Parts: sequence; structure tokens; C-alpha cells
Amino acid sequence: MKDVIALFVAAIGRKNVLTEQREIEKYRHACIPVEREIEMALTPESVKQIQEIVKIADKYQTPLYPISTGKNWGYGSANPVRNNNIIVDLSGMNRILEVDKDLAFAVIEPGVTQQQLYDYLAKNQTGLIMDPTGSGPNCSVLGNTLERGYGISPYGNHFQSLCGMEIVLANGEILRTGFGRFQGAKANYTFQYGVGPYLDGLFTQSNFGIVTKIGVWLMPEPEYFEACYFFSDSEASLGPLIDSVRWLMLHNVVKGSINLVHRNRSLTMLSQYPWKTMKGRTPLDEALWESMAAERNIGTWNGVAGLYGTKPEVAAAKKIIKQQLRGKVKKLVFLNDRTLHVADKLKVVLSPILKMNLPELLKVLKPSYNLLKGKPCEVSLPSPYWRKKSPPPHRNINPAHDNCGIIWFAPVVPMKTEYAKEFIDIVTPLFRRFGFEACITFTAVNPRSFDCTLPILYDKENHEETERAIACHEQVLKECTAKGYVPYRMGIQSMEQMVGEKNVFWNVVEKLKDTLDPQGIFSPGRYCR
Ligand SMILES: Cc1cc2nc3c(=O)[nH]c(=O)nc-3n(C[C@H](O)[C@H](O)[C@H](O)COP(=O)(O)OP(=O)(O)OC[C@H]3O[C@@H](n4cnc5c(N)ncnc54)[C@H](O)[C@@H]3O)c2cc1C
Repeated sequence: MKDVIALFVAAIGRKNVLTEQREIEKYRHACIPVEREIEMALTPESVKQIQEIVKIADKYQTPLYPISTGKNWGYGSANPVRNNNIIVDLSGMNRILEVDKDLAFAVIEPGVTQQQLYDYLAKNQTGLIMDPTGSGPNCSVLGNTLERGYGISPYGNHFQSLCGMEIVLANGEILRTGFGRFQGAKANYTFQYGVGPYLDGLFTQSNFGIVTKIGVWLMPEPEYFEACYFFSDSEASLGPLIDSVRWLMLHNVVKGSINLVHRNRSLTMLSQYPWKTMKGRTPLDEALWESMAAERNIGTWNGVAGLYGTKPEVAAAKKIIKQQLRGKVKKLVFLNDRTLHVADKLKVVLSPILKMNLPELLKVLKPSYNLLKGKPCEVSLPSPYWRKKSPPPHRNINPAHDNCGIIWFAPVVPMKTEYAKEFIDIVTPLFRRFGFEACITFTAVNPRSFDCTLPILYDKENHEETERAIACHEQVLKECTAKGYVPYRMGIQSMEQMVGEKNVFWNVVEKLKDTLDPQGIFSPGRYCR
């Protein structure tokens, strides 16, 4: 190991080779219950340095685990799948290399955060907006794209907005996908497929290379925007709501995604587990859920969507939405910049009239409204603190650093009532049996599918509860997969098990790995045998 360290130091400089415990401790922080042995992290500053690292690793068969910002919270954070990988932390490579205002794309390095891209686009008056995820300002745009993550605007499906990649392969060569291989090609970042096999998918949710650059399509700021919120007050309303969501999206009335957020999930973002009232018992009583929701005017199912377009377009969409949701919701509210401004100004006067705590509501509403308009925020980040005994910080929330307990289970559920109901009927009793609350969000990633995010929120400082969370996750994964509800993305704790399945799919992936990375130096075990 000493020799390899010396080679890394010679290649990328002493300051970029981290071996002290205090320097590498942060990479071990996780929200899922894993403890990985990590002895070293490298912080290269250029593609050339990455190539040098890869050459050394390939020669000495040293496993590398590249991360962008390492905030894959609930799926493993910065931790590798296996012990003793060297973390290659690319957060320092954070240049926005190009933004084309007319063609509406950016070319970025791995360390570019959501906040950084947002600030750049705003400051330079590009007239473009990005699609932020709920994971906060400090996460990487590229890292999220490689996990095929998503937000909620019309550009919310991040893999679909990816155009052109640059990848360092295990032999040190640089692969450029799409038209990138043609010297002087003009359409690298405007036409995704290039000519010949379309390779980009191979470098997402995989371990075939280190991605050093991607093109990301951006959305032109709409001429007019309104946010649509709706609330229903019964579990039974879900079916009719799903029919409407599908109809509105299939008919292109709503161009982005629609989120259906269950009461329980909303409450985990706004409050913490009432340990005192529950006298330490778990899971939370139904009656208490109801009273907590009533206090905050939260419905059983709560919908949110952004309406983007010209003013007449948005007006037409609102009319159709009203027709679609008639009789299905208790309340339907549209907000625009003006109404939000007025509500903010008059919040104290309006609160008693509207019988709601408007100042409190606005604290959540404003960031969530701005998120739809492309501004990253921390509004979702308190939920991992649900079972924690201390509150989240007011800003710079980092649930991994604070040792919060969250394990994501994120299956895809086709957008029909029968599937959603079957899924809910599997997970709700199962969560209860293990002492947890099912806190569901259905995000319409396309007009035909929901990506359901269902977190197991647990107290990571409680050993017994942590063991139960692991068992709950294993069981829910097993039962849902058996019934056909398979996650779109996996945490590092489940990957080895998944790829161990005997089938042609993983055989093909293994052959690709053998060809592209014969020594197996990249992220061993990550979505691959
Ligand atoms: C409360 C909460 C809300 C969340 N909301 C969302 C959400 O709305 N949408 C969503 O998608 N996710 C969400 N997440 C999950 C997660 O936090 C985000 O997806 C986050 O963006 C991932 O972390 P990152 O951007 O730092 O990527 P990283 O952790 O850097 O990357 C993720 C993985 O991709 C691989 N990788 C990264 N960079 C490279 C590279 N350059 N080359 C090769 N491989 C690489 C690595 O294996 C790495 O582990 C949420 C999490 C929490 C706790």
C-alpha cells in the first residue's frame, strides 16, 4: 500500500492524497446502517490526474470508488459497496464548462452542485432554469444523473436530459459518447444518440468508468408559472386522483411531474416523531397522525405540480385541471408570484380569517414553490430527522453527518389504481409490523409510471431499531419484488444480493464489465457482479 500511496502522491500531489483519519472520516458517514473500511481518498483536480490515478490502480489492482459530491443519502452516501476501496472524490472538479443560452444546455463537471448551477444561470441572466431534486443545494447534478435520479419539473427525468458524456475508462483512455468522438462535431450536446450504438445508459447505475463531464439540457424560463396544490381527505380518494394524474399527463396538460404525497410523508418534513406523546412507543397511532395533520391543514393525499407556459396556456391548463379534479379533492389552490407575495405580506392578518397558521405554512410553501421554479432548497431534508431526538439544523442540513437514519425503498408502480392499492396493501402492514410508518410519495416520472419513494425512517442511535430497519427493508424489498414492484435504484447494502441473481441480464453486464474493466478496479459490486 505504501508504494501505491507514493505513486498517487507523485501523480496528483500530496495535498490530493488523503490518508489521515480526520480527513477521510466524512466519507464513512451514512444514513443507511453500513460501516465501511475506508483508508484513503483521492481528490483529483483534472481529467489528466484521473487518468494517472486509473493507470496506477489498474496496474496494482487497487479498487477505486468515484463519487461526485457523495451525498447519496439513504442509498449509501459516499460509501463504497465493499470495504477498502479508495474514494475518488471529484467534488473539487466543479467547473461549469459551457452554457449555451439559445440551445439551452450546460456542460458540467462532477462537482457542480445544484446551487452552483442555479446561481450561474440566474447571475448570468441566461433565461434558463435547472431541475433541482429534493436533496438540497449541495448535491451534484452529475452524480444524481448517474443514479438516474429525478426532480419534478418538465426536465425532471434527469437521464432524459443527459446529452453527451466524457468517461475515463479503466485503461486510462477517454471515451466520448454521442457525437463527442468526432473532432469538431457541432451537435455533441444537442443530439443524444450520435451515430452507432447509444452507450450513455451503460455509464449510469454501473461501474464501467469515471464520468468526468456531461451535457445537461436546461429548461427555458417559462413566460408564466403557477403552482397547483390539491388536498383530499380520504385514503379512498387515491384511485380517482391517480386516474386524473394519468389523464393530465398523457394529454400533456401538465408538462412536468405530479407528486401525490401521503399525509405521513408531509408530516415527516414538517415535524418530528412525537416521542413524548407516544411515551416512547412506535409506530405512531392513527389518531395522532390525524390530529397532527389537522393542525397543519394537511390532507390525506396532497398533490403538487408546476404549470409552465404562456399565460393563456397556463389558464387553459388550470381550467382542465379544475374539471378533472372536480369532486375528487377537498381543496384545489393555484399560486403565482403575485398571490404568494400578497399572502406573505398579509400573513398575520389572514391567518385568523383563513383559520390556518399562515406564517408557518409559508415557511414550507415558499421553498417548495421555488423548487418547482428551479431553485434548490432544503424543504425535504428534515424528514430523515423524524425519529431523531434532536431537531435538524436551520440550514446546511446534512443528514449523513448528523447520523440520521433513512433507508430508501424506491419501486416503480405503473400508474393505475389497482397497482398503487396492491402496493400500499403490501407495504403498510409490513412497515407497521416492524414498528415503522409508511410515508409514501408517488412521483409521476412519466405519464405511465410512478416512482414511489418510501423511506424507512429510524433512529440510527438505537441499535435495536436499526436492526429492525434492516429487517424491514429486506422484507419489503423481497415481498414487493415478488409482486412485481421493483426499485428503480438500489442502496449499496442490497446491490450484491441483486446482482447475485442467476439470469441473462447480469451475465451480459458481467461480460461488459470484463471487457471494459478486466481488473475490476471501478466500484466493485456496484450494480454489477
Ligand atoms: C430527504 C432526501 C431527499 C432526496 N430527494 C431526492 C430527489 O428528489 N431526487 C433524487 O433523485 N434523489 C433524492 N435524494 C437522494 C440523494 O440524496 C440524491 O440523489 C443525491 O443527488 C445523490 O448524491 P450526489 O448528488 O452527491 O451523488 P454522488 O453520491 O456523488 O453519486 C451517486 C453515485 O453515483 C456514482 N458516481 C458519482 N459520480 C460519479 C462519477 N463521476 N463517475 C462514476 N460514478 C460516479 C457513485 O457510485 C456514487 O455513489 C434524496 C435524499 C434525501 C435524504
